[in-house]
Amino acid sequence: MNAMLDQLDLGRRDLNADLHAHSLFSDGLLSPRAVMERARERGVELMALTDHDELAGLSEARAAAAALELPFVAGVEISVSWENDQTLHIVGLGIDPDYAVLDVGLAHLRSGRDARAHRIADELAKVGIHGAYEGALRHVSNPSLVSRSHFARYIVESGHAPDTKAVFDRWLAKDKPGYVSHEWVALQTAIDWIHGAGGVAVLAHPKRYRITHHQLHRLYAEFRERGGEAIEVLSGSHGPDEVQALAQHAREYGFLASRGSDFHGPLESRVDLGGLPALPAGLTPVWSRFI
Ligand code: AMP
Ligand code: MN
Ligand code: MN
Ligand code: MN
Repeated sequence: MNAMLDQLDLGRRDLNADLHAHSLFSDGLLSPRAVMERARERGVELMALTDHDELAGLSEARAAAAALELPFVAGVEISVSWENDQTLHIVGLGIDPDYAVLDVGLAHLRSGRDARAHRIADELAKVGIHGAYEGALRHVSNPSLVSRSHFARYIVESGHAPDTKAVFDRWLAKDKPGYVSHEWVALQTAIDWIHGAGGVAVLAHPKRYRITHHQLHRLYAEFRERGGEAIEVLSGSHGPDEVQALAQHAREYGFLASRGSDFHGPLESRVDLGGLPALPAGLTPVWSRFI
């Protein structure tokens, strides 16, 4: 998969792996190269780039990681619609970015984002936030990937809120005035794309979904049944108090355990690259599969 991986002991539970991070190719604030440099500086031993619905940053990331002698796996974070309008994020790790079915499928998935962005802007205008489509686009680097994060940055910049978290809480989270529902891909499709590309399918930040305990367990069972292999036990999108429960879920369902900061940028992310604790005991790390 990558020459540098030979030099790692992939059985180590305490490996400083960071397997979830974003660049300018989706809603991150740094270039893929800058993400790899920062990861290196911060002591990351195994790094992935996982932009939303997009593979275009992976070649720059891979080249930068190789130059830094930073072990690297190619990744992606795919937007999925599950049950009644619930969005899920499925991370694929160790994928081949040249697998055409994935590449073409993601291009199609991204193509719905522009119309969605217009609808978000229309809803925001109704609650007094004007010019949001153009404003969000000023924060976008990859024209095919306008996301709610770009809207959030525009809304902060225009003085309506102190930070992006406040924007989501008031306008952009589900059931808030600027939220619009959107049809992403089916869970099975995302898993099949990842497997077709030779990768491992990981349920991202399981505790971030606003679903009941019962639904979460139904999701685990369905994800496993459909071929999903891993869950993020450690995520920058979770609080530290949720780790033990997630570790228990991984053991209970036989999932491999992943670890990723979900880093978007230096001032925006609660956890910086490589900043999470080690995986709890009694888990098989997802990186044990990166042979
Ligand atoms: P989208 O794919 O356009 O729906 O945007 C989703 C992105 O918005 C996520 O990947 C996060 O980066 C960001 N996001 C979602 N919810 C929140 C939140 N509550 N606070 C901060 N950022 C969030
Ligand atoms: Mn994001
Ligand atoms: Mn996510
Ligand atoms: Mn993410």
